[in-house]
Amino acid sequence: MAKKEQTPENTLFRDIIAHAKEYGFVYPSSEIYEGLQAVYDYGPYGAELKKNIKELWWNTMTRFNDDIVGLDSAIFMHPDTWKASGHIESFNDPMIDNKDSKKRYRADVLLEEKAAEYENNGEQEKADALLKKTGQLLEAEDLEAVRELIIAEDIKCPISGTANWTEVRQFNLMFSTQIGSVSDGSGKIYLRPETAQGIFVNFLNVQKTARMKVPFGIAQIGKAFRNEIVARQFIFRMREFEQMEMQFFVRPGEEMEWYEKWRDARLKWHKAIGIAEEDLRLHEHEKLAHYANAAVDVEYKFPFGFKEVEGIHSRTDFDLKSHQEVSKKKLQYFDPEVGKNYIPYVVETSVGADRLFLMLFCSAFKNEETGEGDKVKTRTYLKLHPALAPVKAAILPLTKKDGLPEKGQEIYKSLKGAFNVVYEEAASIGKRYTRQDLIGTPFCIAVDHQTLEDNTVTIRHRDSTEQERMPITELESYITKATSFNRIYELLQ
Ligand code: ATP
Repeated sequence: MAKKEQTPENTLFRDIIAHAKEYGFVYPSSEIYEGLQAVYDYGPYGAELKKNIKELWWNTMTRFNDDIVGLDSAIFMHPDTWKASGHIESFNDPMIDNKDSKKRYRADVLLEEKAAEYENNGEQEKADALLKKTGQLLEAEDLEAVRELIIAEDIKCPISGTANWTEVRQFNLMFSTQIGSVSDGSGKIYLRPETAQGIFVNFLNVQKTARMKVPFGIAQIGKAFRNEIVARQFIFRMREFEQMEMQFFVRPGEEMEWYEKWRDARLKWHKAIGIAEEDLRLHEHEKLAHYANAAVDVEYKFPFGFKEVEGIHSRTDFDLKSHQEVSKKKLQYFDPEVGKNYIPYVVETSVGADRLFLMLFCSAFKNEETGEGDKVKTRTYLKLHPALAPVKAAILPLTKKDGLPEKGQEIYKSLKGAFNVVYEEAASIGKRYTRQDLIGTPFCIAVDHQTLEDNTVTIRHRDSTEQERMPITELESYITKATSFNRIYELLQ
């Protein structure tokens, strides 16, 4: 039986998952019942971090850009939506089962993993050729040839270690349920597999009521559901997840210009939130979805390799046109500048809030060695951008006596209206610093005897662990400035 190799990469990923659980970021869903595969809950610090990620994205889209407005459409939609969008017909993944282990895999993912293996061994040409071939076969929907390729590449099931594969079949990823009390199937509806369609069906409502002129965009954050076949890698691939999508409506013929603009803008955004340039790359699609004429992924170097975080797609007029056909309602725009009616083209940016969370968490997770000889210690901390960190500052009285807790409480109360701060007096100051490092708090404010004399505190910086003295009166403006989204916006100019 083939065992999963213990590489430093998957040890690191295991540590990251354990850290996320232990320090209140992400728990398996309904854990007391042994969990539910590929479904997760966010703990107190995870919920704060995710809320900050969503708020930053929302504000960048709707405030930073004057030509983008927001929307919050329902998860349930008329079933014809999914006929028009092509999801009923073709929202499929090619799956293959191993007859010995009875495990199911995505055929394309098995081949992509093989290509990544070639790439890691320095066989770039082989990797590129395999990806190209895979793309061509999937494009031609030649599932028999996909199976043959898996066998020719000697790909084995990691559980059974055999290549005893079934044929490749298409599997629809949408979850369905019933609306109302009908039980004959006529009330069948779907849980949306993407938020985009809520934007398309509301295109004219938004354009008219918000008095928008093409080119303009609509941004939305919301839950999406996919019955994923390969449900591993923690919150990378979930069955219930959150998307942050922006559909930008443009004049036909101008879509490539906008596509390039959004591709560059989104890559810049990922760098601005603190992701290292060398850990990001763009990956042009070999196989285009049925609706697209250009598509690129922003990929991040996760501990398990470079993988998609965000997709930027030029969707042509496919969606609006097919909604117009199926609904028999005109979805055209009269452009006063050119004096013509047309169906706009769409460029979309689509990023998963959970995948973004995982990227930030992996990139922030630091295990650093300090000291020398026998005194070497490992310091673990989360180097999150201060604007995204769940807790901005911790107020820590040095001791539990001499009036220090009272002074600490006074500072805590004066700051808690402005941002998320915590107050802690239990345990040694060193232990309390460590606890804050582990959840990524950028500032620790220690209240000591000198504070009572001159109203100054020490402020400790998470990344350098350096401390400086600062008057209490300056704390609020200092922390506000350091944790403001403006620091990110400045990098986007
Ligand atoms: P993949 O190839 O990884 O399945 P996709 O190309 O199907 O992703 P899109 O349909 O383009 O993904 O969705 C846009 C974004 O939504 C992705 O870039 C990702 O961040 C997020 N996303 C998609 N599926 C999931 C999922 N199952 N769990 C978490 N996030 C997801």
